[in-house]
Amino acid sequence: MKNLFLSSAMAFTLLGLAPVIGTGTAARAQSAYDAQFADYPTYGGDDLELTVTPDATSFRLWSPKAQEAVVKLYDNGHTGQAYETLPMTFDAATGTWSAGVPKALYGKYYTFQVKQDGKWLDETPGVWAKAVGVNGKRAAIIDFTKTDPAHWCCDKGPEVKNFSDVIVYEMHHRDFSVDPSSGIANKGKFLALTEPGTTNADGLATGIDHLKELGITHVHILPSYDYNSVDEANLPANQYNWGYDPQNYNAPEGSYSTNPSDPATRVREMKQMVKALHDAGIGVIMDVVYNHTAENDGSNFELTAPGYYHRHWDDGRYSDASGCGNETASDRRQMRDYIVNSVKYWADEYHIDGFRFDLMAIHDIETMNEVAAELKKINPSIFVYGEGWTAGDSPLAVERRALKENVSKMTDIAVFSDDIRDAVKGHYTAAEDRGFATGKPGNEETVKIGIVAATAHPQVDYSKGNNSKFPYAASPEMIVNYVSCHDDLTLTDKLRKSMPAESDSVRQAAAKLAQTIVFTSQGTPFMFAGEEVFRDKKGVHNSYISPDSINAIDWNLKTLNHDLFDYYKGLTALRKAHPAFRMTTAQEIAKHLVFDRIDSSKQPNLISYSLKDNANGDAWKEIKVVFNGADHAQSVNIPKGNWLIVAADGKISPEGLLGTSKGGRTEVAPYSALILARE
Ligand code: CA
Repeated sequence: MKNLFLSSAMAFTLLGLAPVIGTGTAARAQSAYDAQFADYPTYGGDDLELTVTPDATSFRLWSPKAQEAVVKLYDNGHTGQAYETLPMTFDAATGTWSAGVPKALYGKYYTFQVKQDGKWLDETPGVWAKAVGVNGKRAAIIDFTKTDPAHWCCDKGPEVKNFSDVIVYEMHHRDFSVDPSSGIANKGKFLALTEPGTTNADGLATGIDHLKELGITHVHILPSYDYNSVDEANLPANQYNWGYDPQNYNAPEGSYSTNPSDPATRVREMKQMVKALHDAGIGVIMDVVYNHTAENDGSNFELTAPGYYHRHWDDGRYSDASGCGNETASDRRQMRDYIVNSVKYWADEYHIDGFRFDLMAIHDIETMNEVAAELKKINPSIFVYGEGWTAGDSPLAVERRALKENVSKMTDIAVFSDDIRDAVKGHYTAAEDRGFATGKPGNEETVKIGIVAATAHPQVDYSKGNNSKFPYAASPEMIVNYVSCHDDLTLTDKLRKSMPAESDSVRQAAAKLAQTIVFTSQGTPFMFAGEEVFRDKKGVHNSYISPDSINAIDWNLKTLNHDLFDYYKGLTALRKAHPAFRMTTAQEIAKHLVFDRIDSSKQPNLISYSLKDNANGDAWKEIKVVFNGADHAQSVNIPKGNWLIVAADGKISPEGLLGTSKGGRTEVAPYSALILARE
């Protein structure tokens, strides 16, 4: 059965309150199901499926148990009959089937078809199609050298010294540019991010200029590989999908190109997008969803090597840790190699600067470590992070899963902190639930876990953590802090639902406080596109298939909420100018970040700490950071001295030009951050 295009968020919501990490499977030995693959040969060559030279086109399909296999050649990407069918010959040592023709077949299309257990399966473009016809049913043979934009050879993303220097901006292509207010010509397309000089009706920057103005370092694009749900042959229908329904992992999505019927166009335009962002000094992170496929039996994995690439329970049912109908089996060699080689391909061919792994805990730790190690060889600046949870139980033993709680067993990989997310704004499944920044007491210690990036800190009591009860991160570079993303309510909608009696101006004060916590915390800050202009989704929490009227960012909001936008700009500038917020080791944090003693039973929703002794080489000797999430002013004791005011009462000045203070008993406005600095 075709799956329902469930998003990870929807899966969570259906399953209950918290991401499921599974129980009772820890000691599971190799399953009876797995035993059947013991004699499968694997193949590690780099010529899988298609190799083209000036005088030859060669095919090699990994399908160890097929009885027969053929390649079908086509003139067209989606219609017409095959003009030729090539029989393939089997090599038992590698489990691969080969065929070839003595000329370069540029401009042609192909599919594979295998016979297994006496039955011919449906045609498939294979699992390694790097270019495809419309809707991804047939693989295309194109000359990749002709898809490179000018100066592509010298194209490079921003150099990243430490992952805590990265500021992530998560966006969906369509959300970002499709609204008429964007002033962008290529609405909803890769090319939208290549257009300089676009503005809203009031002349305020949109598009790539907006990103530059905001000061983020990396965009994280929602799934941009070829996904299943949007009919590329009917783009005027304006269908929308987040894209968590993978079809062809190694080709770009056609609906984001100006011509999905021409296989080279999507490749070229995605590269143009990367190039334009790189030229603007911005890195590109791809959301990757290797954890499941859009279809079960109809997936390209099943049509090439039935049973192998997905996990199953011992009774033969697909296991479903993704909540989308199936899960893949990274613990099997050929699947692990597939994931590793696929991200390497995107890094090499498209110069991608980072990968965000959806439901990363469906993958095993060993695979994720191999991913990071191999990417590092290509470009040490590549940032890998993921959701350290699953959306259902898995046959994979808990201790092998790339879980948040296991992040210290991984190298150069970060996980999202659901601790800070839920503690700051309230739980993600309960719309009306408030958090630290919106006046609900009891979240102070969990916010502190976020502030120290879940590292061991002598003043943080992990037993009081809402989600995690131990310092699971060995280093702040293992943590991505956020309060909202594409999943669940936008920050604006969350604030409107949880603060129903307050005005938007009060909610914006809370939004500023929430993001100040994220942007000043140790670890890597992450924000969702449009939050900086107070975008909402009309209260829709799982908008994966909602129309543009829900998902599109209205850029007139930038005019309306310009004060909020300026504040976000201040947050990125402050963070970039001050390494104290970007420490790189747990030891530094334990030494330089000192919390002030506050009795939360008397002064709830109040946190105060110092970054001391020129932390991480900061020009400021001491930075005092105070968060008041209460609906009334609260006062704190600031040591006597000459302080610059960096942030106060909803205003921010990265240079500390809001005024000066002599310290002493100091009042902090409701729902606000106070940041002071002294040299
Ligand atoms: Ca597609």
